Amino acid sequence: MVRIIAKNISKYFKKGRVIALDKINLTIENGERFGILGPSGAGKTTLMRIIAGLEVPSEGELYFDDKLVAKDGKLIVPPEDRRIGMVFQTWALYPNLTAYENIAFPLTNTKISKEEIRKRVEEIAKILDITHVLNHYPRELSGGQQQRVALARALVKNPSLLLLDEPFSNLDARMRDSARALVKEVQSRLGVTLLIVSHDPADIFAIADRVGVLVKGKLVQVGPPEEIYNKPISIEVASLIGEINEIEGKVTKEGIIIGSFKIPVNINTDKAIIGIRPEDIKISKEPIKEEEWILIGKGRVKVIGYQGGLFRITVSPLDSEEEIVTYLDHPIKAGEEILVYVKKGSIKIFT
Ligand code: ADP
Ligand code: MG
Repeated sequence: MVRIIAKNISKYFKKGRVIALDKINLTIENGERFGILGPSGAGKTTLMRIIAGLEVPSEGELYFDDKLVAKDGKLIVPPEDRRIGMVFQTWALYPNLTAYENIAFPLTNTKISKEEIRKRVEEIAKILDITHVLNHYPRELSGGQQQRVALARALVKNPSLLLLDEPFSNLDARMRDSARALVKEVQSRLGVTLLIVSHDPADIFAIADRVGVLVKGKLVQVGPPEEIYNKPISIEVASLIGEINEIEGKVTKEGIIIGSFKIPVNINTDKAIIGIRPEDIKISKEPIKEEEWILIGKGRVKVIGYQGGLFRITVSPLDSEEEIVTYLDHPIKAGEEILVYVKKGSIKIFT
């Protein structure tokens, strides 16, 4: 277990023309499961590589516990002395090595004796429940067993820190669920500090106790998963977590007006963006009497699509080109006039 502290870390590429990381300040606690969520190009892999020691920060300091490991463009502790295990996107195993040899690989060419290597491989194999397949080649293993072998290889050196960079993005949906559960279980058994980065909020929310959101090299929000989910600080952060309708309209005392829609929110500034998730919008031909649904006005159905077992409906106010998206479990005709409702308390305001 180790505590990771980043102090004002920036990373520049191409003589400063690319700012991959911009003054990152972050502490990952001993034994914590920390997740970084960010879109492609945000700087996630760069941060991973700096922590692993494969890159140095252009500016700033990186500590492992009290030990300074890199500072202002200088590598102080090299990767091999940082006690890190890593799993990248592919979970790739060496196809011509057995499961045993794959797991033992990080220990070969070290001073560790053959007997000690055997002992360590068997130990980690036992934890991951793959003892019975150690003599198999990767092609003879199921997908789930291959993941376990890859994870065993990352853990065989008994690392203090496990780094996972988009580890599930190449797996199919079913495998992804089991891999997430496996990582979480193994982490809590070994107590290793864990840092996972992904563009997929489902990866992060499945595993992390605390989440940092990285956008264009800046850490814009850090907090527990439910806080990131319920109180995103900007529309950008909100849209990383899931689809959201971004609505900009005229602010009045009664709320935001967009054509025939009046969205009842209390805003003190004259300009605001509001966000409403598709699931917090309901459309209906008949009035809805439930109290939690607030009528915002009449709209017209513009476009209908079919996606993930639901009908994706685009609705516009009667006299405006603005569009909002919601989903229905039954089809509806384009051009139809409908009533549009918003769920009470669900409107996010960004000023
Ligand atoms: P992510 O992993 O979040 O997709 P990266 O850390 O890979 O993002 O990249 C962040 C930014 O830094 C991108 O603009 C990328 O093009 C740039 N970048 C990363 N590595 C290099 C490099 N070795 N040379 C130049 N630019 C790089
Ligand atoms: Mg990356």
